[in-house]
Amino acid sequence: MDAGPPAPVPARRRRAKRPRTEVVHALPGRYRLADRRLRGDADAAEAARLALLGVPGVTQASASAVTGTALVRCIPSVTAKRLCAVLGAALGDPPRPRALSSAAVQADPASEAHAWHAMPAAAVAAALGCAPKRGLPPAEAAARLAAGGPNLLARAEARSAAAIFAEQLTSVPVALLGASALVSVATGGLADALAIGAVVLLNAGIATTTERSAERTIQGLSDVSPAPVPVIRGGRRMMLEVAGIVPGDLILLEPGTLVPADARLITATDLTLNESALTGESLPIVKDADAGVAVVAPLAERRSMVFRGTAVTGGSGLAIVTATGSATEIGRIQALLGDLRPPQTPIERQLGEVGRELIIVNGAICAAVAGIGLLRGQPWQAILRSAISLAVAAVPEGLPAVATTTLALGIQDMREKQILVRRLDAVETLGAVEVVCLDKTGTLTANRMAAAALHLDGALLAPEALVGARRAVAVALLEAATLCSDVEETGDVLAGSPTETALVRAGLELGLDPAALRSRWPRKQTVPRAEGRKRMATLHRGRNGTLLAVKGDPAEVLARCTKRLTAAGEVPLDHAARSAIIAANDRMAAQALRVLGVARRDGGGDPHDERDLTWLGLAGLADPLRPGAAEAIRALHVAGIRTMMITGDQSATAYAIAKELGMPRDGEVRVLEAGALRDLPPEALAALAPQADVFARVSPANKLQIVRALQASGQIVAMTGDGINDGPALRAAEIGIAMGGGGTDVAREVADIVLATDELGGLLEAVALGRATYANIRKVLRYLVGTNASETMLMLGAAIAGLPEPLNPMQLLWLNLISDPLPALALGLEAPEPDVLEQLPHDPRAPILSPDDFRRLLREGAVMGTAALVSAIGAPPGVAFHGLTLAQLAHAFLCRSETHGLLGADRPPTNPKLLGAIGLCVALQAAAQGVGPLRRLLGLGPLGPAGWLGVAATALAPLAVNGMISAMPRRPRQGGAHA
Ligand code: ADP
Ligand code: MG
Repeated sequence: MDAGPPAPVPARRRRAKRPRTEVVHALPGRYRLADRRLRGDADAAEAARLALLGVPGVTQASASAVTGTALVRCIPSVTAKRLCAVLGAALGDPPRPRALSSAAVQADPASEAHAWHAMPAAAVAAALGCAPKRGLPPAEAAARLAAGGPNLLARAEARSAAAIFAEQLTSVPVALLGASALVSVATGGLADALAIGAVVLLNAGIATTTERSAERTIQGLSDVSPAPVPVIRGGRRMMLEVAGIVPGDLILLEPGTLVPADARLITATDLTLNESALTGESLPIVKDADAGVAVVAPLAERRSMVFRGTAVTGGSGLAIVTATGSATEIGRIQALLGDLRPPQTPIERQLGEVGRELIIVNGAICAAVAGIGLLRGQPWQAILRSAISLAVAAVPEGLPAVATTTLALGIQDMREKQILVRRLDAVETLGAVEVVCLDKTGTLTANRMAAAALHLDGALLAPEALVGARRAVAVALLEAATLCSDVEETGDVLAGSPTETALVRAGLELGLDPAALRSRWPRKQTVPRAEGRKRMATLHRGRNGTLLAVKGDPAEVLARCTKRLTAAGEVPLDHAARSAIIAANDRMAAQALRVLGVARRDGGGDPHDERDLTWLGLAGLADPLRPGAAEAIRALHVAGIRTMMITGDQSATAYAIAKELGMPRDGEVRVLEAGALRDLPPEALAALAPQADVFARVSPANKLQIVRALQASGQIVAMTGDGINDGPALRAAEIGIAMGGGGTDVAREVADIVLATDELGGLLEAVALGRATYANIRKVLRYLVGTNASETMLMLGAAIAGLPEPLNPMQLLWLNLISDPLPALALGLEAPEPDVLEQLPHDPRAPILSPDDFRRLLREGAVMGTAALVSAIGAPPGVAFHGLTLAQLAHAFLCRSETHGLLGADRPPTNPKLLGAIGLCVALQAAAQGVGPLRRLLGLGPLGPAGWLGVAATALAPLAVNGMISAMPRRPRQGGAHA
C-alpha cells in the first residue's frame, strides 16, 4: 500500500519560470487579466476559470485560451491583486499562502459561488492558500480561526432565566390573576391585590427554576464532543479539535473518521464514505480525488468532495477544508430548516391538548357558576371575582411543562446510571420499545475470539493436535490467514479485529513469525470486505512471484476454489471433498463457532481475480457468551420485549448461540438468512421479519432493511450497534443504542442512547427508567387534574346548592399556587416501581390518559370536592379550606402507584422528596392558620376542636374512599403481567 499521499499534480509547472499575470483592464467589480500561459492551452484556461470562480466574492469568470485573458465579475471588495495571485497559482506559480488574507477566505457567507468539487485539487489548494503537502502555517491557521470563527454548527440558544420568567408572567393563569388583582383594587381590596402579586411571583420563580434546569438538561443532550481529527499543519501531522479547523487545513481521512468540515480531496485510496447523515444513502459512496464533477452536480454526486457529518468507512485520503461551521453543507441545511429546537415530543403535544380541553370545560363551569350567581342576584363584583378565582383554580397551569420537566428529570436520573440520552423523546419511546435487535458480536458475545478447531485435509482437529504431515497444511493455512490480516503486533500484544487476532495468535502458537512472514511476502494490494462481500483478499509479491491470500465466509471462499491442499500436496477439489468441507463447516458452526474459510493462489497479479484458488481449510473461532447476556435476554422477555439477534455469521453459528442464550421464548429458534432478504418485496419482509429470532449473514444495508421491515409491521424497534456502518440502521430505529466504550464515534453520534458499558443490563435499566418516566407523567397528571377538579366541583356544587362561597378567591389561589406544584414535582421523581420490568410496554399510539383514566380522575376529584362541600355546610369558615388542602396533599400518596396499594407489602418504596414536599406544604398550611397576617389575608377565623375534627374528616375521608376504589380490581390498562 502507498506509504504517504502522493503530491498532487499542479497545473502546468513546465513554463512557470517567469510568472506573468497582469491586469489589462479594471473597473469596479469587473477585471480583465492576462497571462500568456493561458494561450493555446484549453486545460489551463479551464483550471484558471474554476480557480477564479472559487475566489469568494467572484460571481462570474471566464478564461480564453485564444486571447490568453480571463474576465472576472465580482463584488467590489475583491482586489485585482488577489485575482492575479489566484490566477497565477492556478497556472503554476508556487503557492504563497501569505498573499491571501485570512479574512478574505473566511468572510464568505455565500460559498454557493464556489464550485470546489468541479475545480482541480491544485486550484482549490491555490485558492485557499494551502501548500498541498505542508498544510497551512500554524500562524495563518490561527489568524483564519480568529477571523472566521470556530468550526461549530449553530445550535439552539438556551432560554435565559429572565426569558423563562417573562414567559411565566405572560401565561393564561397569570393573565387571569392579573384581572383578579385589578378587580380587587377596583373593589377596594388592595391587600388582596398585593398578595396575588406575591403569589404570582413566587409561583413563576418555582416554575422558572424547574424549567431552566430542564432546559439545561435538554441543551446538554447534543453535547457529545467529537473526537479530535488528524490534520497536517506546517508540515506536521497533529490531532486537532474539530472546532479549531479552518478553511485551507489539510485533513487526513481514515476509517472511522467523522469528517469535521467540507473538504476537497487531494488524494484518495479506496476511499469510501457513509453519507447517510447528509443524503440518506445508506450504502458506502466511493470517492475519487480526480473525479470530473460538473459544477451543477448534486451533493450526492460530488465524488471529489467529502462533507461534514459523514463518516469514512474504508480506505484513506487527504483533503483540503473548503468550508467550516455553518458554511458547510450540513450547516446550511440546518440553517434552511431554521428551527434548531427539537420538535415537541408526542407526550408534550398530548398534554398541550389535554390542557386546552380542560380550559374549555372549566371555562364553561366558570360561566355556569357566574350565571347562577347572577340569577341569585349577587353583586356583580363578587361574581366577577369568584369567577376569575375559579378560573385560576381550574386552569391546569403548565401541563405541557409537566411532561418536559418530568422527561428531563428522567434524563438526569439516567445520566447518573451512565445512560446517556441524546433526545428528549427517546425517554418516552424507551418505555414503549417492543423489539430489540441485538448485535451478536460484542453485545451478546464477548468479542474475544480464539481458534478452537481447524478443518484441513479432511480432518477436524483441535489446534493443539497438529502433528506430522498435517502440520504443514496447518502452517500454510495460518500463513495465508496471517498475511490476509491487518493485525499489528508489538511484543506479545496483538492489535486488530478480534477475528484476525485470533487467527494470527493461532499462527504464533504454531511457531509462525508474522513479521518475518510479512517481509518475505510484502502486501501490494487489498480487496477489503464490503457490502455483499464477506471475504477479504490480499495480493503479496515475494522474491519468486506473487501470492493471493483469501479468507472469509466459507461458502464464498469455497466457491472460488478448484484445488485443495493435502498432506500429500495439491489435489483437485472434487465433489466428495467439497461435500466433506461443507459438512465440517456445518458441524463447527453448530458448536457456535465463527467459521472462516482460507485459500490461496500462487501467481496472478489482480487481487480482484479470485478464481482458481487452492482451498487450505476452515478455521473455527470460539467467542464466549458475555456474562449476564442470557439473564438479560430472559429479563427482556419478561418485560414483554422481543429480542432479535443480528449477525454477519452464518445461520448455524447464529442458531447455536441463540440456543445457548435461550433466545426464543418458546424454545424454537427461527433463523432468517439476510441473503434471502434482498430480493423479497418489502411487504413480504414486513410480514416475515417479526417472526424471526435470528437474522444471519447480515450486511449493514440488511440491518436497515430489517429495521424498516419491523417498523412497517407496526413495531417500536430499538437497535444496538457499534460499527461505522451501523449508522443508518441506528438512525432509522426508534431507539438507536450505541453500546459501551468499544463503539465508534459514528455510532455514538447518531445513536439516541449511549450506554457507557457493554452490559445489556444497562439497556434494561434504560427501559425501566423510560417506563418509570412515562408512569410518572401519568402520576403527576392524576394529581393535578384530580385536585383541580375537586376545587371546580366544590365551587360548582356550592353555587348550585345556593351555599355561600365555600372558598374565597384568596384561598383558591393559595390552594393552587402554594400546595399544588411541589407535590406534583416530587411525583415526577418517583423511582421505578419494583415490577416495571414485569409489565408489558405501553402502547405508544394510545393517549397518555384514556377516557377511562379521565373518568377515574374526575371521580377522585369529585370525592374530594364532595367531602369539602359537606364540610362547608354549617362548619366554621376555614374547615373546607384546610380540609380540601390536606385532602389534596393526602391524594398525592394515592397517586404514587396505579397498581399497588399504600399499605400492602408491595407498596412502592419511600420517596423522600415527596415526603419533604408534603411536609413543607403542611407546614405552610399550619402557618396559614397560625400566623396572624396570613390568617387575615385568607379570611380565616379560629376553628375550635369541632372545626379541627371537621378538617381531619374532610382530609382523610376522601383518601379512604378513593383508596378503596383503587384497590378494587379493574381492567388492566395495558394488559400488564400483573393481571
Ligand atoms: P457480526 O455482525 O456478527 O459482527 P461480521 O460482519 O463482523 O459479523 O462478520 C461477518 C462474516 O464476515 C463472518 O462470519 C466472516 O465470515 C466474515 N469475516 C469477518 N471478519 C472477517 C475478516 N477479518 N476477514 C474476512 N472475513 C471476515
Ligand atoms: Mg462485527
